[in-house]
Amino acid sequence: MNSYYKTVTSILKGRLPGQLVIQTTERCNAKCPQCGMNISNSFKRSTLSSEKIHQAIDRAAELNFQSVSFTGGEPFLIHDDIMNYIKYASVKGIKYTRTGTNGFMFQKHNEPGYTKKIHALAGQLSQSGIYTFWISIDSACPDTHEKMRGLPGVTEGIKKALKIFAEYKIYPSANLGINRNTGGRDTDSYLKYGIFQKEMFYESFAEKFRKFYKHVINMGFTIANACYPMSFKNDTDTSVYTATSSENITSFTVEEKTALFSALADVIPEFRSKIRIFTPRSSLYSILCGLKGEKEKFPCHGGVDYFFLDSHNGETYPCGFRGTESLGPFHTLTFTENKTHCLACDWECFRDPSSLFAPFLSFKNFRKLIRDKTQYTLWKEDLSYFRNCSFFNCRKNINTEKLSSSKKPSNKFMFRDFFLS
Ligand code: SF4
Ligand code: SF4
Repeated sequence: MNSYYKTVTSILKGRLPGQLVIQTTERCNAKCPQCGMNISNSFKRSTLSSEKIHQAIDRAAELNFQSVSFTGGEPFLIHDDIMNYIKYASVKGIKYTRTGTNGFMFQKHNEPGYTKKIHALAGQLSQSGIYTFWISIDSACPDTHEKMRGLPGVTEGIKKALKIFAEYKIYPSANLGINRNTGGRDTDSYLKYGIFQKEMFYESFAEKFRKFYKHVINMGFTIANACYPMSFKNDTDTSVYTATSSENITSFTVEEKTALFSALADVIPEFRSKIRIFTPRSSLYSILCGLKGEKEKFPCHGGVDYFFLDSHNGETYPCGFRGTESLGPFHTLTFTENKTHCLACDWECFRDPSSLFAPFLSFKNFRKLIRDKTQYTLWKEDLSYFRNCSFFNCRKNINTEKLSSSKKPSNKFMFRDFFLS
């Protein structure tokens, strides 16, 4: 069954096309302060056996899942295995296979053998059936990014590598984990007379996002994505996905998040014709409505159609964050009608597709959407733009002509005016 029929079949059954995120390993070689898996944190790190991963892929294929992500830790510490998993999932008919890297292999780009090494990687990726290949970029300032990751020289190496990847028709995505250093080392204060200034915070983050998009375009990226910050406090964090952190660099108050998401949503249209930006504005609108205290229309499908497979114990969870709800091994998972309406976090991997695709699930959902004229307009614009982005297929090059012809934001809706006033 091809991907189109799988989607239609799922939707007719009232389900979104399934997505499984497999944490292949907790091992990592980077120092990211925003992540619990950084090399300085000492704990026993696990790697899932290939047997368990193959079993999970088999089950995902059986259930007509459309998307499997292989995440870490650093997936490329188990390079050969990752390549095999992607191939295996592709052969099993899973269209959206995803993996990525912190970029450690792009260091030492002046050493002999670098070009050969990257040609070999690009060749492997092009043979693998990969759909999305992300490279993490934390900041518009190379020095800040490299210090945060503990990977000196990686920026120049990525630039060189992107040119080589293009020869193999592989177009990686720049993956920003939104943090306070997005625009460069953040030393600003957003207080006046001890009171938080949301307008100031908004302006500062709008500028940070502009710098970020300009930077990754200059590096040679043609796709960009943004991971929303996970602001858990230590006492409320029950996640199994240890990428969460309570460090200030990714912890934001509700007021800060409101300004930050508004800034992101307002800046995206400025760059949509220059780089394919996955972040859907309709999803940001939905999250912002939730932050404002309104009822969000479309809950997250984590634990309903989307699942997380933990490397530590090989068990399945509704997502990486609901770590008290083990569902057992994925290959034995049976699906019951799960009506959980969870909106407890902003993990974009599950939140964005939930709000994008839920309106297709029923007439009731669609009616809910069209009753909010703003969300409906943003949603239509997102879908039209995504089509012009070849749905972010990393095997297809950017088509700037098509992107320029994308529907422009029609109602000049400014998130700032709506959410910050
Ligand atoms: S964000 Fe990724 S690269 Fe950085 S420490 Fe965490 S797992 Fe490693
Ligand atoms: S909203 Fe967050 S915590 Fe809830 S199911 Fe989705 S990813 Fe999990």
